[in-house]
This record gives sequence, structure tokens and C-alpha cells, in this order.
Amino acid sequence: MTPDEIKALVRTIPDFPKTGIQFRDITTLLGHGRGFAATVEWLTQAVAGAEAIAGMEARGFIFGAAVAARLELPFLPIRKPGKLPCEVIGVEYELEYGLDRLEMDPAAVGAGQHVAIVDDLLATGGTAVAATELLRKAGARVDRAAFVIDLPDLGGNARLASQSLDVRALMA
Ligand code: 5GP
Repeated sequence: MTPDEIKALVRTIPDFPKTGIQFRDITTLLGHGRGFAATVEWLTQAVAGAEAIAGMEARGFIFGAAVAARLELPFLPIRKPGKLPCEVIGVEYELEYGLDRLEMDPAAVGAGQHVAIVDDLLATGGTAVAATELLRKAGARVDRAAFVIDLPDLGGNARLASQSLDVRALMA
């Protein structure tokens, strides 16, 4: 399938979760077996050379875990606060209103391991920058991030590039 054919499987929902936001809904893409497989294949090529794949809760788990299994690499779940049963490290980051936090198990990463980040969508880059900081705190080398969708007007791509990340996106 071509990127344009895959793009046609993403549904845009106006005014979700609040007025003025055009929400890109990837559940229609997940519901199309060939489209989902082609997306996972594209992401798999985009992270070639990584030694582990990290994905952010929740939609990053869907794509990241599929890519990791396809490459037989470890999958590192980056979680919302209070979810992991072990000792964790965390990073706080700013949302439009207030703060959020991501956590992970620091023992999941090998020192100097090359980790690629996978998520469904890149908007402001706040989530991916926080995940990068967290993984680097745990000792990883984070050099690549792959997304299904990039919203370039929101500046995330440039923010991640300034963190020395090679950013790839299947569609804008
Ligand atoms: P950022 O931190 O780059 O501003 O936002 C990206 C994060 O928010 C991603 O983890 C993504 O799952 C979620 N997100 C923000 N907007 C959308 C959207 O329109 N569609 C989807 N599927 N996720 C979104």
C-alpha cells in the first residue's frame, strides 16, 4: 500500500476532545488489517538499526510493540504515572494546561543501548521530548523517532531534531 492509501484510512474527527481540535483517529487504520500491517512494515524500516523500541502509553504501545516483535527486539513501555509495579524513574513535561509525567523501569535499558521511539502522532513534540529525556536518564542512546503521523505546523519535528533525533513520519 502507498502512504496515500494508508493516509486515507485515518479518520479526522472535528472538535475532539475539545472545540477547535481536529483529532486524527487511527482506530480506523487499526481496523484495516492490510493497512495496519503496511504501517507496521513502514515503521519497521524507519527504525532499522535500533537495539530496542520504546513506545508511549497508550497508542505508542500498539505500533511500537508490533514493530519490536517484528524485529525480535525488546519493547520498552513508557508509562503514565503510577502504573508500573517496580521502582521507576520519571520526567515531568508541560501540557497546554498543567503538567504530565512519564515513567519507566530504568533496569529495562542497557547502558548505551540504541533505542528508537515509536508513537502514533507527533504534534508539539512534548511527549516525545520527555520520553527521550527519560530514556537518556536511564542510559539509552536515543537517536531516532518514528511516527505514523506528523503535524508539522505544531513544531514537534523541529523540537526533536534539536535533541539530535532523526525523525521519520509516514504521513503529514
Ligand atoms: P505532543 O506531545 O507531540 O504535543 O502530542 C503527541 C501525543 O498526543 C501522542 O502521544 C499522541 O498519541 C497524542 N495526540 C495528540 N493529538 C492527537 C491526535 O489528533 N490523534 C491522535 N491519535 N493522537 C494525538
